[in-house]
Amino acid sequence: MHDLRVTQSRITQPRVAVLLRMSKLTIAIDGPAGSGKSSVARRVAAMLGYLYLDSGAMYRALGLKALRQGIPLDDEARLVALANQTHIELRAPTAEHEAVGAKNCVFLDGADVTREIRTSEVAQAASRLATIAKVRQVLVAEQQRAGAGGGIVMEGRDIGTVVFPKAELKIFLDASPEVRAERRWKEHQEKGDRITLPEVFDEVIERDRRDRERKVSPLVRAADAVLVDNTAMGIEETARLIVMLAQEREKELAGAAGGKP
Ligand code: C5P
Repeated sequence: MHDLRVTQSRITQPRVAVLLRMSKLTIAIDGPAGSGKSSVARRVAAMLGYLYLDSGAMYRALGLKALRQGIPLDDEARLVALANQTHIELRAPTAEHEAVGAKNCVFLDGADVTREIRTSEVAQAASRLATIAKVRQVLVAEQQRAGAGGGIVMEGRDIGTVVFPKAELKIFLDASPEVRAERRWKEHQEKGDRITLPEVFDEVIERDRRDRERKVSPLVRAADAVLVDNTAMGIEETARLIVMLAQEREKELAGAAGGKP
């Protein structure tokens, strides 16, 4: 019996009132590091009045705990045991966290680790333990439980392929490696981290390679995912495009059910 729980308060106050009439879809957004998933997914959730869940934050929180406990990142047995004994909670961000760019507040065993999980070291640790099938099983079960009721925008690497293969709308978000590294570097700059653009570029490329090449749940575009390349698009524009796709999908589903669009 494990003790990993994800909870998050529902983002209320949808800004596009007409969307309130929509039935609740499950929206899966997958893509590589720096593709803008978190910012876009959170904005889409706010516009639709949906839950937002950043699955990467769960892998990061577990990675942070493993680093703190000095558990080697290839020690499968200990990492699986760790996943089973960990309590992770995701909440909507406080104003203070939002001011430094956080898309949610992350609690690890009751302690706020929102800032601590956003380092390159933790990102790499997360991507290493994310290659372990039994670790993923624990986190995926929690993600499925959190999203069981629909009305959720979940982002990660395997949401459309493994976590919610039947999601009504799947997006594969991508951008050029240069733009993705630059976005990540700017985030680091804003936090005052001392890391150069070439270092961030290498980190992003290395992590993408591991995420795409791993045997379990690799980062791939689901056959039925819409590819959105936002190399030359901003967050707001990308979010609006996805909301439009959600509305289209809703109309299709309403039509298929014989209801009025
Ligand atoms: O999305 P983010 O960059 O915060 O994710 C950190 C790492 O967690 C990724 O590089 C990936 O290895 C892992 N991850 C995953 N599956 C997910 C979300 C994240 O393997 N659904």
